[in-house]
Amino acid sequence: MTDTLDAAGRSRRDGPTLRYDVSRDELATVLDGEPTYRLDQIWEGIHRQGGELDDLSNVPKALRARLGDLLPMGLTPETESVSDDGETVKWLWKLHDGHHIETVLMHYDDRTTVCVSSQAGCAMACGFCATGQSGFDRHLSVGEIVEQVIRARRTSAPRRVSNIVFMGMGEPFANYDRTWAAVERIHGDLGIGARHITLSTVGVVPGIERLANEALPVNLAVSLHAANDDLRDELVPINRQYPLNHLVDACDRYLAAKNRRLSFEWALIDGVNDQPIDARELAALCHRLHAHVNLIPLNPTPGYRTRGTSAAGVRKFRDELVDLGVNTTIRRTRGTEIDAACGQLRASRQLVDPPRRR
Ligand code: SAH
Repeated sequence: MTDTLDAAGRSRRDGPTLRYDVSRDELATVLDGEPTYRLDQIWEGIHRQGGELDDLSNVPKALRARLGDLLPMGLTPETESVSDDGETVKWLWKLHDGHHIETVLMHYDDRTTVCVSSQAGCAMACGFCATGQSGFDRHLSVGEIVEQVIRARRTSAPRRVSNIVFMGMGEPFANYDRTWAAVERIHGDLGIGARHITLSTVGVVPGIERLANEALPVNLAVSLHAANDDLRDELVPINRQYPLNHLVDACDRYLAAKNRRLSFEWALIDGVNDQPIDARELAALCHRLHAHVNLIPLNPTPGYRTRGTSAAGVRKFRDELVDLGVNTTIRRTRGTEIDAACGQLRASRQLVDPPRRR
């Protein structure tokens, strides 16, 4: 984008100022002339509660109405789909300019996780990923990222959202500044611990390097999928720009700086990356980086013919890794029947034709 962006990553040229795009100082300016305690009341209110101004019963109605007009919400629900006996909820949101994004809420026995999008679409073009197949629309602003958590948390109540994963649409490190500002807000104002926040990257090396220098020790996941450059160049095109030796060096530096556990995501594709040689190559990288592996059978997407590895094949691959001494878990697939599973997020274009700025 070539137009000027403010600190929240809002375009000054188009679009309203969204409720979660304003900083505390900007809200103070909006509240100029009001008693000083209103700032805390409203700032904390909109972050601790669900974002509905009408829930702020201690704020005068006229002020709530004025704020509602000045600072509208950024996400309009287009659809809300529920699956896994109510344990998974997916939203398709419409943004103010007609683009779409998705957010997924997942309840587990021991935690509740919100999977957020960092961009509308994605430019990384991984062929097996539905978001990658449909291309890039635009970056999300800080407020559009934060609001996904606020809205999901409202639905989740009384169950508390404990974890945030940046594994929705988009590449968080291709939208680094806004993603990081959103992480700081989710941590500082929504009260979710850094150790419960995970950033997942396709391997954008400069982003990993920046993350190593941040104060908050969040978790890093790398979507690896192949442990040799020939195959990774095919599966994950950004590998041609940041090949494995660069990626591994960046992970090394991240580990040295943060002492946090690194995890590799590995979508098992039938006959492509699920053979014993793949397990051996992956194990060698894991040993070097003390990484944990999350395995998931490839979920079906419209634009990719190859199938996911069978359940038995996934277990066999897991056993091979475990025999090689690698800490491995098979990720439970959530929301497949509502296209909410990993790699299936593709905010349906057919609903609206978003304006394209080219
Ligand atoms: N761009 C970031 C964030 C997206 S996370 C990243 O790549 O890490 C989404 C995760 O789902 C990634 O690990 C991605 O590789 C994986 N994924 C994409 N398509 C998939 C599919 N069809 N089946 C299973 N996992 C998939």
